[in-house]
Amino acid sequence: MNIGFIGLGNMGAGMALNLLRHCQESGDTLIVFDINEAVLVDLIAKGAVNGQSVAKLCSQCEVLFTSLPSSKEVNLLAFGDDGILAMLKEGATWFETSTNELSEWQKVKNEAPIHLTLVDAPVSGGAEGALAGTLAIFLGIDEGVLNRFESLLRSFAARVERMGPSGAGYVTKLAQLHLNYLVAQGIGETLMLGAKANLDLGVLHSVLMSSCARSYVVESYIPKVLDGSYDTSFALGLAEKDMRLITELGQHLEVKMPLGDKVYSTYQAAMKAYGENAPHLSIVRLMEEQHDQILRS
Ligand code: NAD
Repeated sequence: MNIGFIGLGNMGAGMALNLLRHCQESGDTLIVFDINEAVLVDLIAKGAVNGQSVAKLCSQCEVLFTSLPSSKEVNLLAFGDDGILAMLKEGATWFETSTNELSEWQKVKNEAPIHLTLVDAPVSGGAEGALAGTLAIFLGIDEGVLNRFESLLRSFAARVERMGPSGAGYVTKLAQLHLNYLVAQGIGETLMLGAKANLDLGVLHSVLMSSCARSYVVESYIPKVLDGSYDTSFALGLAEKDMRLITELGQHLEVKMPLGDKVYSTYQAAMKAYGENAPHLSIVRLMEEQHDQILRS
């Protein structure tokens, strides 16, 4: 079987590497493509095949994975005479692992030929989890399709969760991100309280870690504020996009989210100040500048 992977960025590179190992054990072939040639080199050296273009890759594949920044790139690649929908092999299955929006995915699904199976399959666990093969993947999928592909998905995901029919994967991902971003802004406020009262922020972090406030965000994000890196593994532009999708989902489902609205406006302000390529924890940097107080241990 030929498995395609398009989009070898922070997340895609790790997922593709684990898929490659799976292919090398099962006798399958991994074919990869990205517009950024630099990210292809490592995978090709390890044994993946260079897909050369979206059209060429898709014309050879029974299964496709995509990991792209947003619906803009997903749609760009999906449509047109040389696009994914036109070029994928008869009967192929496409797992779309980006954090995407329901309404845009529905447009892609509406245009898809009936012989293709499209699965919303967003992931959680960050670039580290992608490389370690410990991601969680949330699927909008029929049980029969999941049974066929579960072992393949387990090559990069420790948790493979069928959340319901098409669309349920994206809704799960956005609900999870909503809480993630609320806590991400919260750590800035907590550290600021400590800094203004001259607490040792390293000790404060270790206290939080053994308290009821403990979470992945507290464990993993606070050190990346305290070392001044603001976490370069995830871009501010992607975080702001996520908050927009969460806000739109709330509007669509008629759920009022005053906390979400406040946090979204902070991400928008940080984007304006630092640009889309800044690290996502620049929202805490914004707070540091507003308070004239650097948060370091
Ligand atoms: P990224 O920007 O690092 O990677 C995206 C890749 O897509 C890049 O290598 C880029 O060159 C490639 N690409 C863009 N346009 C293309 C095109 N037209 N043809 C081929 N390749 C193209 O982004 P990322 O951080 O890996 O995130 C990917 C997706 O996963 C996003 O939707 C993001 O929201 C989601 N996500 C990211 C994380 C994370 O921690 N980084 C965690 C969970 C989900």
